[in-house]
Amino acid sequence: MNSNSSSAPAIVVDNLCKRFGSFNALDSVSFDVARGEIMGFLGPNGAGKSTLIRVLCGLLRPTSGRAVVAGIDIALDPEAVRRRIGYMSQKFSLYSDLSVLENLQFFGGIYGVTPNLIAERIHFALDMAGLLGREDALVSTLAGGWKQRLALGCAILHQPAVLFLDEPTSGVDPSSRRRFWNLIHSLSAEGVSVLVSTHYMDEAEYCMRIAMIERGRLIALGTPSELKQQSIGGELIELECDNIGSAIELVAQVAGVRDVAVFGNTLHILVDDAQETGVAVCHSLAEHGLPGAQARPILPTMEDMFVHLVRAARSQQAQVLK
Ligand code: ADP
Ligand code: MG
Repeated sequence: MNSNSSSAPAIVVDNLCKRFGSFNALDSVSFDVARGEIMGFLGPNGAGKSTLIRVLCGLLRPTSGRAVVAGIDIALDPEAVRRRIGYMSQKFSLYSDLSVLENLQFFGGIYGVTPNLIAERIHFALDMAGLLGREDALVSTLAGGWKQRLALGCAILHQPAVLFLDEPTSGVDPSSRRRFWNLIHSLSAEGVSVLVSTHYMDEAEYCMRIAMIERGRLIALGTPSELKQQSIGGELIELECDNIGSAIELVAQVAGVRDVAVFGNTLHILVDDAQETGVAVCHSLAEHGLPGAQARPILPTMEDMFVHLVRAARSQQAQVLK
């Protein structure tokens, strides 16, 4: 949608910091986003994802550092940034007591869509959201998936070159989430750069690159496969057993076990040698009254990588503070 299709990055973030009082919500964050790229922000609650998005949208002033979004320095002209980007906030900012059409007309006005374009853009948004024929429905009567697609439609009425989506799929059913991701991919194919925060690990796989954020810092950046191939510092065992709660304590004490984390109703155990330590773990559990455990080597998932990187970043920070 950006007709100046140069190879310049759509976003450049350079040492960006945001402090609230003495608290560092963003700590020297740097990365670039290419035109048409889908960049995912992955991080625990309170990591700084929303703050980063709001700073890049020109809604919050950075404390220091620099960011250029769609060719504009956010500190110099935040208003121009806001005109060129689309933003879907964490709580969809639709008006529940207005109809579908009224919401689109309202956001079209806010984003300054010209009168000769608005009808076509609203039709596009209705079609994309699957809401053609439901223009007069009150937003309060729509199910989550439709609200979500309508909010996306509102955010792209003015054909922004860059789109920010803050946890857009929270609380939406899986098939709507899938459909929403298809829409994001079609926008990206048209050249829109999409920055999307999520805490769903499976969604990280739909992003072209992922920035992992923890306590305001960028702790990893790469494609999903690059991140998964990064060393997690050893091999991984999946352990199925009864009484996970007691097993975790016992497993942590077995020689060769570097880390243990609960994954659903299994344990993921980080070791140097999956074969050897898997056997030792099962023996130890049986000796302590938990027979029948099953260990098998597995490849790390995005979630394993995430847990590993967050723990590594936290222990590094703890070292620095000592
Ligand atoms: P995330 O979106 O990753 O859950 P946020 O960006 O919302 O995280 O918040 C990051 C941290 O900054 C949190 O500790 C939050 O409490 C703090 N924070 C966010 N906004 C403000 C604010 N306006 N004033 C003070 N602290 C804030
Ligand atoms: Mg948030």
